[in-house]
Amino acid sequence: MTESIKTILIDGKWQEARDGDAIEVVAPSTGQRIGAISRGGKTEIDAAVAAARRAFEGVWGQTPAVERGRLLSKLGLRIAECAEELAQIEARDTGKAMKLARNDVAATARYFEYYGGAADKLHGETIPFLEGYQVLIVREPRGVAGHIIPWNYPAQMFGRTIAAALAAGNTAVLKPAEEACLSIIRLTELAIEVGIPAGVINLVTGYGEEAGAALTANPDVDFLSFTGSPEVGTLVQKAAADNHVPCVLELGGKSPQIVFDDVDVEKALPVIVSAIIQNTGQTCSAGSRVLIQRTIYEEFVAALAKRVNAVRVGSHDADLDCGPVISAVQCDRVRGFLERAQADGVAVIGEGRLDASAVDGGFYVKPTLLGPVDESHELAQDEVFGPVLAAIPFDDENDAIRIANGTHFGLIAGIWTENGARQMRLAKKLRVGQVYINGYGAGGGIELPFGGFKRSGHGREKGFEALKEYTVAKTIVINHK
Ligand code: NAP
Ligand code: MG
Repeated sequence: MTESIKTILIDGKWQEARDGDAIEVVAPSTGQRIGAISRGGKTEIDAAVAAARRAFEGVWGQTPAVERGRLLSKLGLRIAECAEELAQIEARDTGKAMKLARNDVAATARYFEYYGGAADKLHGETIPFLEGYQVLIVREPRGVAGHIIPWNYPAQMFGRTIAAALAAGNTAVLKPAEEACLSIIRLTELAIEVGIPAGVINLVTGYGEEAGAALTANPDVDFLSFTGSPEVGTLVQKAAADNHVPCVLELGGKSPQIVFDDVDVEKALPVIVSAIIQNTGQTCSAGSRVLIQRTIYEEFVAALAKRVNAVRVGSHDADLDCGPVISAVQCDRVRGFLERAQADGVAVIGEGRLDASAVDGGFYVKPTLLGPVDESHELAQDEVFGPVLAAIPFDDENDAIRIANGTHFGLIAGIWTENGARQMRLAKKLRVGQVYINGYGAGGGIELPFGGFKRSGHGREKGFEALKEYTVAKTIVINHK
């Protein structure tokens, strides 16, 4: 490639990869090339980590919390001002419908507003100790944070991880997914524009196996934040172990919606459908299993199928219920699940429709409801990361809990029942990081701590819990006898 593509930001300077290599950017709605990004690797990562270290020990370390907060809030406002431009970039790059891209950008702005406000409210503690002593617990930033994020919600992920890290006083090196990072490049420009000092946010575009692996291996990184697949999560945690640094891993799920026979059907149906079609099912907290009490199974799936049949899929700018999936690879992956299910005799109960804007060359799949799915089938166990919903019958409360907890994942769950005592019993027994009762917040809630049990990962993002991850407690003991 010959064009000059400066998508790497190190120490406030935009640059291309040292050897000039680049990666094509393709629009999922058409399959056509829309640009290119630099292919950064170890050289760029190491320079970015060194810049982040200098900023941590220098300018950012000397910036008072109140000032850090002001800068983050200012970035939030600037993002809100540029919302339409950012949403257009995000929709074209990821294929998501415009209304979802607009929501994502609003959430990105909100992350900076929220953590901007939180920066100067991270109080320490005092602990009663022996006579003549005063003990203080102060929360200090970890230092240089390495962030590796996926392609499904690039802008939101930027807000979620960068705003929290910076609010707590860390500096950052970010490696976004090569499939979708155009909004992140623009967001990083805005960060510089509002005055976040050089070296505080460093961005290295490139492949995971190259730039990502180099970031996890760099011994001068103090903390790793990763969102993506369980397989890569394992690699990240191994690399963190080699360098004795902590990591937060957010690795997706197989989240259940549990529907009892006293469900408010009209309230539940639209939420259950939107929880699986949101972002074309490419959401870590997608509600990809619907567990239905056997007494209402037939009636409920029939009503659900009607709604799934009405879902329309098309290009991002047609702004329908669903856009394409991110890539040809992801399209094949989702189709593979559907083909194997068919071969295994699992019935398709409902299927969405392709709109005329779903042109050949784009990466389109039809949202699909299948069932009854055996609880051991891959559709009931594995993350499809596409708009595929598995219906599974259950007998009673204990059966529901057993099936809901019966995967390697544990991210979030929805409980649909009007019985208050049952709501609470289930909420306590489900091994997941978030429980929704008579609702479902796939990905929602900046203020709400979020993270997994089991192979969904560990550590918490969002809310004040994220600030605890990005800081470390230091104990100071004063002898004043
Ligand atoms: P992935 O490979 O885990 O990618 C996530 C991030 O990790 C990307 O930035 C990726 O870079 C980077 N990466 C890849 N290999 C790496 C390595 N060896 N060291 C360090 N970083 C590395 O996920 P994917 O390929 O995008 O998607 C595969 C599956 O993961 C999906 O089908 C889905 O099941 C799951 N997924 C889950 C989430 C979630 O939110 N939990 C998000 C996305 C995907 P590059 O992509 O640039 O190579
Ligand atoms: Mg990838």
